[in-house]
Amino acid sequence: MNAALSRNWKHAVVTGGAGFVGSHLCTALLAQGTSVTCVDDLSTGTPQNIAPLRGMPGFRFVEADVTEPFEVRRDVDLVLHFASPAAPADYLRLPLHTLDTGGLGTRNALAVARTHGARFVLASAAGVYGHPQQHPQSETCWGHVNPVGPRSMYDEAKRFGEAMTTAEAGTHGTDTGIVRLFNTYGPRMRSHDGRAVPTFVRQALAGEPVTVTGDGLQTRSLCHVDDTVRGVLAAAASDLRVPVNLGSPVEITMLELARLIVELTGSPSQVRFVERPPDDPAVRCPDITIARGKLQWEPEVALRDGLARTVGWFRTRL
Ligand code: NAD
Repeated sequence: MNAALSRNWKHAVVTGGAGFVGSHLCTALLAQGTSVTCVDDLSTGTPQNIAPLRGMPGFRFVEADVTEPFEVRRDVDLVLHFASPAAPADYLRLPLHTLDTGGLGTRNALAVARTHGARFVLASAAGVYGHPQQHPQSETCWGHVNPVGPRSMYDEAKRFGEAMTTAEAGTHGTDTGIVRLFNTYGPRMRSHDGRAVPTFVRQALAGEPVTVTGDGLQTRSLCHVDDTVRGVLAAAASDLRVPVNLGSPVEITMLELARLIVELTGSPSQVRFVERPPDDPAVRCPDITIARGKLQWEPEVALRDGLARTVGWFRTRL
């Protein structure tokens, strides 16, 4: 991380810290000497994700649902609000919980930051752009979301969370930032969470057909979790109050991704085309001009390397 944008926080609260991205954030913060209170209801995260952290000095786990108000007694100088179902399999199963976590959960996490005078960073998502009318998507894009569509519970929860964060900063002067994460992948994803990387890796390692939706020409841009964590901590250390995209600017079609994963696993699997879910965006690619300029951040892990490492991790788990 750029030296100007690193900060030695004493104590951070990470909501959703037992999840995929959150557990990597907890690990990175502890490694730089920051104590961490991880608040998680384990609705989509797992105790295994934080098992290596449990015995570490400075790490504390609180099992709690952030849709209920919560207090942290020790001084806090950073709140990273990452609690939210994020994988399609999860938010489709938990629609009301997803909306409550984006709304009430964001409000309660903001209250903790306000009480302690801490910097607050909201994990928002590329989902706020919906079916983008601008490509690549810059932060000035207002989005094109179907408010009653099949994935509206996630996209609108993120949009509401951003509005809540903005209102909190305007009303109480709380020091807030918003990171809009694009697709992130890496170790600790769950094999059945419905996201493309774990699905393709699981199928390829099992020698099963790799199921690509539609014609597979829809694109995503995939950022390794190590890069995402570096970007989140840079945003936290900065004084940026406007949303910032964090993601890879390199686009790949789902068909190319499936073929690359089959190659990396050395699997005999063939691609099978299946029905594409409704409201699945056709393109996703961030414009990262703000992250490059203000945070001196851009992804460093090449997709092929990151996927090879991720395949290696899944191989030991499946
Ligand atoms: P995840 O499901 O692995 O982690 C989310 C964590 O939040 C889980 O541990 C879950 O138990 C916890 N949680 C959910 N609701 C909660 C509640 N009400 N109270 C307490 N804990 C709760 O998902 P992830 O991929 O790690 O995503 C983390 C954050 O990053 C989410 O806010 C997500 O929207 C955002 N994000 C992730 C991606 C990605 O590609 N992984 C992309 C865009 C945005």
